This record gives sequence, structure tokens and C-alpha cells, in this order.
Amino acid sequence: MNDFAQLYGRPSEGEWAAPGRVNLIGEHTDYNLGFVLPIALPQTVRAQAARSGDGQLRLWSAQGRELVALRVDDLAPGSVPGWAGYPAGVVWALREAGHPVGGADLRLDSDVPSGAGLSSSAALECVVAAAYNDLYGLGLSAAELAVLAQRAENAFVGVPCGIMDQMASMCCRPGAALFLDSRDLTMRQVPVDLAGAGLALLVLDTRVKHDLGDGAYAALRAGCERAAALLGLPALRSLQPSGLADALAQLPPELVPLVRHVVTENARVEAAVARLDAGDPAALGPILTAGHASLRDDYRVSCPETDLAVEAAVAAGAHGARMTGGGFGGSVIALVDADAAGHVAAEVTAAFRAAGYAEPRTLTAVPAEGARRLR
Ligand code: ADP
Ligand code: MG
Repeated sequence: MNDFAQLYGRPSEGEWAAPGRVNLIGEHTDYNLGFVLPIALPQTVRAQAARSGDGQLRLWSAQGRELVALRVDDLAPGSVPGWAGYPAGVVWALREAGHPVGGADLRLDSDVPSGAGLSSSAALECVVAAAYNDLYGLGLSAAELAVLAQRAENAFVGVPCGIMDQMASMCCRPGAALFLDSRDLTMRQVPVDLAGAGLALLVLDTRVKHDLGDGAYAALRAGCERAAALLGLPALRSLQPSGLADALAQLPPELVPLVRHVVTENARVEAAVARLDAGDPAALGPILTAGHASLRDDYRVSCPETDLAVEAAVAAGAHGARMTGGGFGGSVIALVDADAAGHVAAEVTAAFRAAGYAEPRTLTAVPAEGARRLR
């Protein structure tokens, strides 16, 4: 049931995959035009696709379990509710940018946990962007496709996310973290040999997503933009740690912790890259934990569940841990000795049980490949 031919009465022209991601460090820095350091997950959204000649975009997802049919000419921001807005938004963004694309039939399937802070939404956008790029022979680069996918999420779905998730899903490479400068999208693949150092990266999905997230994200972003304007800067990225104390003295009190987080977080990304370049991934641990404290105390996007996961992981011997993703729930990453991964996961699970929380879902993150054609 529900294979491509059964859904659409013809074979697909190909199949593409795009991964979810975890960000090692650099949270809420991308929309301040700063640094991020994500890795792609082995978990992907996959799309089987074929062009349609009738101007229709037909979408079916093994997770959404409904067939959505849209006229490409009618696509407009806000017009497509629910999950279909992400793929439809990509087609809209391509056409808005002047690319001559028409309809397609898509069959989507995914093993990226959805709503867990692992960026299933960007994976969904990016797999559609990659499929359209090949099907319609657009010849766009991975970074160009990421920018269009972000535009789909910002302008079509209405989520004011930065560029990290889409760049991670499009541009990551196996065995490496993507050191991305969000100001000009310059990037460097930084080798991350966790296994060689006897380490593993645990992902603890708290399975909570507190509702205040969406409005709070926009408010935080607006606060950063207001602070940059008050300081006469194009973006908070331009503020160096050496100028932080002077800058904070000029700001209204409510903006002080936001600016302190962004400036110290950018410095933490640079410190993390230096440790990886030095071949010392274990030294990321304290940087991760310091990043979590900054998200909890200054940026205030943490929540009791993510705080508990970080505390329990560190108490169980993790080198360091932090919330990853936008916040208010989602996932925590913990850098652990590979032979202690089971113990740390069990200790976090026990702490959640004792607190009366649902058990976290655990996976191990291995730096994997960005979006690609499978066949
Ligand atoms: P995250 O990106 O952290 O997973 P979001 O809330 O940004 O969380 O995106 C999750 C949304 O993306 C889902 O609610 C759904 O609308 C959409 N989505 C993700 N994966 C799929 C899929 N395989 N099929 C259909 N919709 C999906
Ligand atoms: Mg998302």
C-alpha cells in the first residue's frame, strides 16, 4: 500500500534524502549573523518524486498520512495549513526567485523525530529543494537551496528561523561539523572523530515542546535586533567579547542578558572549533555545559526537562551537555565516553522517572551526510 506507483499510478523519477541535525554549539546565534557548528544526523527525510505536467503539486507523507493536492499557481504564504506548508513553501520560494518550476508528485517518509528540536522541518524543506533542483535541472548550489528553504519556512510557513538548520541539512559532510558564519554563509568542514577519541554523542529527546516557544522565539529575535540598533551595529555578531562590558552598560536591563548570551555563545563556537582542530573533542564538554548555563540563565529558553537532562547527564559522568535547538523542550546532547553511553542514558531516564516526566527517547548522533540524491 501507498508506494509511489500506487499513490500516483506511475514510477518516480528518483529519490532524495535530507538529514535532521544537532547543533554542537552556537544557539540563537544564526539570526544574529554569528557562528554555528551543527552536524547532520543519520536520520533523514526521504522523497520519491516525479514532475507532473498538470501544474499540480501532490504531496503524501508516511507521517502525515494524507494526500494533499495543490495548484502550483495558487501557492501563497499562509494558504497551506499543516505539514504540507513546508514542501509547498519550497516550491513557492523557487518560483518567487524566478525559477521556472511546475508541479510534482512527492512521496515522503522520515525517521527524523518531529518536533524534537532535531529539525525535521528543515529536512523536509531541503529534501524537496534537492529533488526540485535535480528534476527541473536548476543547477543551484547547496547553499542557494538552503536559503530558499529558509525563505519557505520564514515567509510561507511563518516561522522566523535563522539559516542554520537548512544549511546543516544541505551542506554537512560525514565525519565533520559544519563551522558556518551566518553573516556571509562561508563555511568550513571541521573533522569530528568522536569514536577515535573513545567518545559518543548522546541525543536525549525530552519529548516535550512547551507552547510558549513560537511567540518567545520571535520576541527574542526582536530583542536582539533592538539591542543591535541601540548599539549602532548591523547585528550582534559585530560585538566582540572585548567590547561586551561597555556595550552592556549602554543597554536597558532587559536586553543585557540577551546580548551577553549571543556574544559569549559566538566565542564558545570559536573555542569549540579550536578544540576540534587540536584533535581534542573531549574538551568540548565544558564548552557545551557553559553554553547550556547561558541558554538557561541569560537567554532563558531552557525548561525544567532540558535542565534536568543536562544535570543528570553531567552527574552521571558526561563530559558536558546542553540543550540543542530553539528551546522550550526538544533535545539535549551529552558528550560521553563511548563505554558510558548506556549508563548516562539510564541515569537521565531514572531522573526523568523520579521527576514524573515521560521517559526521554535516546539516540546516538554520528556526523552524517547532508542532502543527496539516492537514485
Ligand atoms: P523540528 O523541526 O524541530 O522537528 P518543527 O515544529 O519545526 O520541529 O517541525 C515539525 C513539523 O514539520 C511537523 O509538525 C510537521 O508539520 C512537519 N514534518 C516534519 N517531518 C515530517 C514528515 N515526515 N511528514 C510530514 N510532516 C513533517
Ligand atoms: Mg523546525
